[in-house]
Amino acid sequence: MSTTKGANPNGKPKAKSKGKSRAHTNGASSIIGTRVLRGECTAELESMVKNELGLLGEDPTREGLLRTPHRVAESMLWLTRGYEMDVNEIVGEAVFEEAHQSMVVVRDIELYSLCEHHMLPFFGKAHIAYIPDGRIVGLSKLPRIVEMFARRLQVQERLTEQIAIAIQDVLKPIGVGVVIEAYHLCMMMRGVEKQNSKTITSAMRGSFRDDAKTRDEFLRLAYTPSTPLR
Ligand SMILES: [Zn+2]
Repeated sequence: MSTTKGANPNGKPKAKSKGKSRAHTNGASSIIGTRVLRGECTAELESMVKNELGLLGEDPTREGLLRTPHRVAESMLWLTRGYEMDVNEIVGEAVFEEAHQSMVVVRDIELYSLCEHHMLPFFGKAHIAYIPDGRIVGLSKLPRIVEMFARRLQVQERLTEQIAIAIQDVLKPIGVGVVIEAYHLCMMMRGVEKQNSKTITSAMRGSFRDDAKTRDEFLRLAYTPSTPLR
């Protein structure tokens, strides 16, 4: 697994930029772009999509395509809204003192993201586990942390690491493990056209990295077939 030591779990620079643009990074690299706040970039995105339609040989003025640039712009902003989220805002007050020291697993968290190489979707499931060291987090916060990082342009490897780093930073647990299994449309509908290959990535911290028993317990819990509750 690649290391992203020093990566900011928020994927944002420490210094807060003021004004209408928000600088962001998406991983260990330095600032790679600025995001102009919503209303102001919709119009520019729209005109780019309109150009794109023309370049693809389409007629952007035909009826079916008239509103397409607007819809695409809105949808891209929504699909990348994770840039505007912050892990501390997400977790908020939902960290609780708790003596519990056994593994907490939340599995089968649905995940939808966009690969940064093709801007095509990849989707699948995330499984998260941690062993608390005096503090637990509201369970619903874990899927929201996944969402925050998934709703950006991503590579699956970095997405996995960022989730683990964020949980590590927020909870300082004894250990944390994250596994993501996903299908990439850039592989399935173009290029190699491998429809059934699934990509699995993992990021382990603390006892999940150092202790094979802990890691095995997590993987067993994550992969045991579940029976429906009803
Ligand atoms: Zn791709």
